[in-house]
Amino acid sequence: MTKQVVCRYIKIGGGEPVSIQSMTNTDTRDTEASLAQIKRLEEAGCEIVRLAVPDREAAESFARIRKRTDLPLVCDIHFDHELAIAAIKAGADKVRINPGNIGDAERVRKVVTEAKAAGIPIRIGVNSGSLEKDLLASYGHVCAEALCESAMRNVRLVEDMGFDDIVISIKSSDVRMTVDSYRKLSEMTDHPLHIGVTEAGTPEAGKIKSAVGLGALLLDDIGDTLRVSLTADPVEEVFAAQKILAAAGKIVMPIEIVSCPTCGRTEVDLVSLAVEAERQLYAVGKKRLSEGKRNLKVAVMGCAVNGPGEAAEADFGVACGKGKGVLFRDGKPFMTVSEEEIVPSLVRMAEEI
Ligand code: SF4
Repeated sequence: MTKQVVCRYIKIGGGEPVSIQSMTNTDTRDTEASLAQIKRLEEAGCEIVRLAVPDREAAESFARIRKRTDLPLVCDIHFDHELAIAAIKAGADKVRINPGNIGDAERVRKVVTEAKAAGIPIRIGVNSGSLEKDLLASYGHVCAEALCESAMRNVRLVEDMGFDDIVISIKSSDVRMTVDSYRKLSEMTDHPLHIGVTEAGTPEAGKIKSAVGLGALLLDDIGDTLRVSLTADPVEEVFAAQKILAAAGKIVMPIEIVSCPTCGRTEVDLVSLAVEAERQLYAVGKKRLSEGKRNLKVAVMGCAVNGPGEAAEADFGVACGKGKGVLFRDGKPFMTVSEEEIVPSLVRMAEEI
């Protein structure tokens, strides 16, 4: 089991649930826009938000942002140790630095001293794009071994300063290298790990890359906090992270929709029906979970011939025919409704069950 650090009220590591992070893509100097995005991220289920702090003006804006939200906030700092110190003083709950680009050990020490005084953790993040020259020369190319050595070198530097509240990340946009690196790293350290496939790409490709990479790690029980990195609205990162965690069995989604791939027997617009059912049932499922009830598996199937049988493991569902739907429970049909009544009927059943 990894050690535990605390980021405001979110515990990272030590067997705690894997927390979901995202990062604002607003200009941090724009206090209002950043706060609005943080609120949207929070509403989507994001537990920790990271902000880039590239200059003094951004650090000053961060201080204002900090005062207006209780969500754990991480400041991402490159090159300038003074900015890291300013962010910590302004109330950052964690700082993400790459000691390799912060400057000499003395500058790193100043950041570490400040973090220690504030009682916050530091994320040490190494990136395949900024591997130290000597490691690049000795390994000949960027590889998992070189990334792990770089990470551990930086971790030891900070540990030797008497600091132990460390989270480590290794970022590569290559899925295989990401998975290999974290597998190796998890055997080299018991510091909690922040996992992610960096610069994963546009929404569709990025979600698949992230699902493969993060999925492999999560199924190995590696990773204490994660970010899905997408070229998209960061809220999409949060939804993708939730789905990956649910698929890996780490969290329970309020509603699980089982829907068939459709085939030549389908006589309704099942794609729209399944999407609408998921959207409306999500709120009911969320309410159920908040009341301590279990989540529901709801089937939306394309035909009454095979649908109920194929979705026998669902709590209830619908098997559609031309202009109508046969509602079923525990795999057995019990009522026929018109096409327009399908989604409202499913919502009613979710509320009643
Ligand atoms: Fe085809 Fe019916 Fe199976 Fe859907 S449930 S894939 S419509 S056979």
